[in-house]
Amino acid sequence: MKQQGLLIVISGPSGAGKGTVCKAFLERHHEVMLSISATTRLPRKGEKEGVNYFFKDHDTFENMIKNGELLEYAKFVDNYYGTPKHFVYEQLNMGRDVILEIDIQGALQVKESFGDGVFIFILPPSMEELKRRIIGRGTETLDVIEKRLENASKEIGFLDKYDYVVINDEVGNAVSYIESIVTAEKCKVKRNKDIYKNFSGGMSYDDRSTAQ
Ligand code: ADP
Ligand code: 5GP
Repeated sequence: MKQQGLLIVISGPSGAGKGTVCKAFLERHHEVMLSISATTRLPRKGEKEGVNYFFKDHDTFENMIKNGELLEYAKFVDNYYGTPKHFVYEQLNMGRDVILEIDIQGALQVKESFGDGVFIFILPPSMEELKRRIIGRGTETLDVIEKRLENASKEIGFLDKYDYVVINDEVGNAVSYIESIVTAEKCKVKRNKDIYKNFSGGMSYDDRSTAQ
């Protein structure tokens, strides 16, 4: 049986650079799949349906929740965001690694329902830099920027729920850290139980205790 893919959950405050870092990571790792979320947020200039998000109206999104189509969902600054379940499970079952770029509320739900992911928190070097980035991006109104920054201070309190923290000072550095995390996770014994068979006459890792 093929080893299940790794679920890589990336969160962090809005403006930390999650999107930028994930894009750079994916450019170097075509074998890793990005889960495209559904949202009720309006598209930003240049965003495309099915590439950045699946853009939904409020009622359609609530129907997706009711029909159990989402792996997790959350309300973030007045809009719904959620991860379509089918794509993620399909890819993981095919042995492909999948990245979820989601907020903290969503990440905590995934941790509950799918404990085996790797949970990475991306932070900017400082709160001042976060402000500079979110304002510099120029995609939100001042009112929304303020709400997102207010959220950021609370979100940082959830850092200890994560497995790893990556400071996004330079995009290239952040990508290298994520590469190292993914490599280390893939070397974990619990993810390599099949290897045991090659050295023990076909006996599986889980058979060992009964055979002793
Ligand atoms: P998020 O997805 O976390 O909301 P973005 O990826 O949209 O954040 O990045 C927010 C802004 O910060 C963007 O304008 C982006 O170009 C910029 N940015 C991202 N990473 C860095 C970095 N390492 N150094 C400087 N600016 C960055
Ligand atoms: P943005 O509006 O800047 O694209 O995203 C706002 C926040 O929603 C970000 O923190 C982003 O990671 C998060 N987000 C994007 N997709 C999802 C999702 O499917 N689920 C959850 N819970 N959060 C998401």
